[in-house]
Amino acid sequence: LDFCRRIPKIELHAHLNGSVRDSTIRELSTGLEGGAVSLPDLQRLTQQASRTLGECFQLFDVIHRITTTHAALTRITREVIEDMADDNVVYAEIRTTPKARPEHGMTTESYLDAVFKGVADYYAASRRTQDIQVRLLLSIDRRQSAAEAMGTARLAVQLRDEGVAGLDLSGNPSVGQWETWRPALEYARQQGLKVTVHAGEVWNPEEAAAILQWRPGRLGHMCCLDAALEKHLLDSGIPLELCLTSNVLTRSVPSYADHHFPSFWPGHPVVLCTDDSGVFASSLSREYALAAAAFNLSDEELQQLAVAAADYTFLEPGERAALRERMEAALLVES
Ligand code: IMP
Repeated sequence: LDFCRRIPKIELHAHLNGSVRDSTIRELSTGLEGGAVSLPDLQRLTQQASRTLGECFQLFDVIHRITTTHAALTRITREVIEDMADDNVVYAEIRTTPKARPEHGMTTESYLDAVFKGVADYYAASRRTQDIQVRLLLSIDRRQSAAEAMGTARLAVQLRDEGVAGLDLSGNPSVGQWETWRPALEYARQQGLKVTVHAGEVWNPEEAAAILQWRPGRLGHMCCLDAALEKHLLDSGIPLELCLTSNVLTRSVPSYADHHFPSFWPGHPVVLCTDDSGVFASSLSREYALAAAAFNLSDEELQQLAVAAADYTFLEPGERAALRERMEAALLVES
């Protein structure tokens, strides 16, 4: 784990509200009125060793009841970046669904302003000379209607010069239909924005095939595939965001040893990610260490994986090359 902590890393699949520190959840929940979340409930949900995907989404609903104010959003954003920087993450794409909460005077725009303020607060307090670089991805939640999804896509396009690097489709994989959100993703792509899509988290071969055919810039998870879909994915060359702890804890794959990582890497573009470092009590270095143990990866292979991730970021080509150089320069110091 120490080696995995020291190497520079790139995080491309991290949900903001899934990455909140346990201590912050507890602190914010104690101030809530009307017992929005009871502490025993919270403890039960956050301290479970394993949970079904359905239980995970219950937990997200609980976290969302705690992070309702602009101040809470600013705080969790700053803390998530602090934790990543402490873990030697040098570049991160953090994703979140902008939420309108009229009862708290919050619009989707002000939600994002609060998140941007969290990013700014992090840099204002940071003393690092070579600091973490952060971009946001806006997530369409599968609970959203076509019109709401289009609203999120339009926001992403409007904010692309403010640090939004792309659009994501996520949320409970058992909810909704791909065709509902496709026009919004299509619009964003036509406007030149990069798109990543969660797919194959549960067994739904028709949807996974349709998403693959649409060719997103990256794909998240892709755990539940048959041989034909796996071949189609391999042929596509689309980079895959793989989150080992998340996939095992939510039982999308039966165990670390059975994870689909070795079906793709080496050969196919793959990036190791955390998904929800808070909810799954992990970190990016821990994910690298788990991969090393499960698939017998050498230190050199871990570094190759880490550096290659620069090529799959949603940065502009010049920025991507600069990031790759930064990663390589840092690795020289390691070897
Ligand atoms: P938020 O977008 O910042 O609120 O982050 C939490 C949200 O991320 C959840 O409500 C889900 O919509 C999404 N999410 C987190 N983990 C997963 C996952 O494993 N699969 C699908 N969606 C997820």
